[in-house]
Amino acid sequence: MNRETYSRKDMEERLLRKVKKDIQCEHDIELMSLRERDDFSSEFEYFLEILSLGIYPQKFKERFNKPLAGLYCVQVPLELFDALGFHPFRLCSGSLAIQRLSSGRVPSLTCPIIKSCLSSFYLDESMEKLCDLIVIPTTCDWNAKLPEIIGDKANSIHIMELPHIKESERGRERWIQEVYELKKVLEVHAGRRLNRRQLSSSIKKYMSAWQVLGQLIELRRRGAISGTWSIIIANAFMLDNVESWTEKVKQVLKNYNVPKKKNNPDVFLTGSPVFFPNLKISELIEEAGMFIAGDELCTSERNLTGATICDDYSEHGILKTLAERYQLSCSCPSFADNYRRAKNILDTMRIHNIKGVIYHILKGCHPYDIESFYFEKMIKENGYHFIKIETDYSHEDRQNILIRLEAFRETLC
Ligand code: SF4
Repeated sequence: MNRETYSRKDMEERLLRKVKKDIQCEHDIELMSLRERDDFSSEFEYFLEILSLGIYPQKFKERFNKPLAGLYCVQVPLELFDALGFHPFRLCSGSLAIQRLSSGRVPSLTCPIIKSCLSSFYLDESMEKLCDLIVIPTTCDWNAKLPEIIGDKANSIHIMELPHIKESERGRERWIQEVYELKKVLEVHAGRRLNRRQLSSSIKKYMSAWQVLGQLIELRRRGAISGTWSIIIANAFMLDNVESWTEKVKQVLKNYNVPKKKNNPDVFLTGSPVFFPNLKISELIEEAGMFIAGDELCTSERNLTGATICDDYSEHGILKTLAERYQLSCSCPSFADNYRRAKNILDTMRIHNIKGVIYHILKGCHPYDIESFYFEKMIKENGYHFIKIETDYSHEDRQNILIRLEAFRETLC
């Protein structure tokens, strides 16, 4: 081994040790600040504990005596995995500390979520590396190129080709074909065929989860649980088995009620996903004296609430219903025909008398960035207040954002 090779290897090892220490520190700081909040309650311990499993991947694996499937988007039907014996969970990361492991490997303006997720493959142990299968729908350009960037670092990757027009027969047919293709891949991995009865029972299991998520949203609309805690609970979805998560949310619904502060105006949060430990935007909104009465984040309220109702119980009937439910209820800006997103937001604001929209953009998250211009115009034309916050996972802009949010709050009072 020559001197140069040795020193490069040595430097890489040192960097890895340092990054691991920083990730731990970043998690500990966020957990401490969440536990110190006035509205903290012991009911939230469970959700914090399972979110912490991100830094203890082996402990995460031990919770499930089954193969793990990591998903890069919420549009993939979870019930299909469950019915074929997999535990599906969302691969998402809000870690800033980890991003150093992918620097130099992707463009500097890469979406922070992608940067953090990709970096996980460079750790010696991570949830990503423990996945028996990773499923990536080609939503945005970053996701379309992700398999190429990950290369052979993942055990197995399946790409789902997402049609960008959903409200057409062609788009729906296309997505159903993709769901069938996914079924085939899962059957090969599982070594068995899909069983219709098991699929129906998985649908029931997830229905209970969607129901409690719906009730959690109602609790939030009544001002009895903050946006940050709601996001935490939704972030933790899929990181444990779905029944345990559902039971723990029921306990929150039964025991928790910390009314919002009287003078805090309600706002609606939309835009790029927010994931633990990067809760910067929701924490700053609350610090600026506003109550996040609703959101449209795919890591929170848009975790696809709503029932799966079949009228045809053949295998094809159930798969078709599942495919349509996941596709049609998704209002991700990666769709070209996305008028439902604007309509959903405006309806929620009207019904709940919410006066302002905070539009969160993670630098490099192009679909949300592009849609923000249309949204700004549409929200203002409907008589609501609007502010766009463009940021990343770093901390340097916190004070600046806080000042802008405080000024925005004044316009709502
Ligand atoms: S932003 Fe869109 S593409 Fe990205 S995870 Fe959410 S729903 Fe999927």
